[in-house]
Amino acid sequence: MLIDFHNHHLSSSPDVLSIRSFHQREQEPFEQWTGPCSVGLHPWFVSEVDWVRDEQWDWLTRAARDKKVLLLGECGLDKLQGPDLADQQFVFEHCLALAEQLRKPVVIHCVRAYEELFASVRKIKPTVPMIIHGYARKATILKPLLDQGFYVSYGAAILPPTSAAAQSLAQTPLEKLFLESDDKMLPIADLYARAAQIKGLSIQELETALQNNLETVLRESNK
Ligand SMILES: [Zn+2]
Repeated sequence: MLIDFHNHHLSSSPDVLSIRSFHQREQEPFEQWTGPCSVGLHPWFVSEVDWVRDEQWDWLTRAARDKKVLLLGECGLDKLQGPDLADQQFVFEHCLALAEQLRKPVVIHCVRAYEELFASVRKIKPTVPMIIHGYARKATILKPLLDQGFYVSYGAAILPPTSAAAQSLAQTPLEKLFLESDDKMLPIADLYARAAQIKGLSIQELETALQNNLETVLRESNK
């Protein structure tokens, strides 16, 4: 079965295991959702107002315990959008600690804030698997991520023939890889076809590998 590791679509196809991601502004659709999903405090929508942030946090701590929630996130750091980075980092570190407490893997959104991400990880020391979603950067940033055990999920950025993301995917070990449509309305099968081509694998081989990866991150977090 194909896995769409991270997306924001409200419909899913029966032959894809689609992990829908909900954030603090999607509390109602989250309640109505019955499939596998993730919940997190998205850095763009972290509030700078204390009482609003407390409410967002209360929602997350309740929602994250739901059985349908396989993963925590997306949460993370974004230097191009959202409130002050200090506010984002405060919330992100709480999310890491919650994931650790609930024993769920964390899906991380990181834009131009890798140093701060590493600092938070050194501080909180999560032992649950961490997955960087929507990775679209050069392979130079990939190396420290892989060295620290991160998984990496790729989206539409791998489609152009010479993209940085495609080159990074080529250097990502198969056992650390996921694919996701994120906010793009594109069939996940297109990403499998492209990734299989980059990796020199059959779709079937890639399918099996990514299924194993999902099983691994879920099993590892339960230790
Ligand atoms: Zn997303």
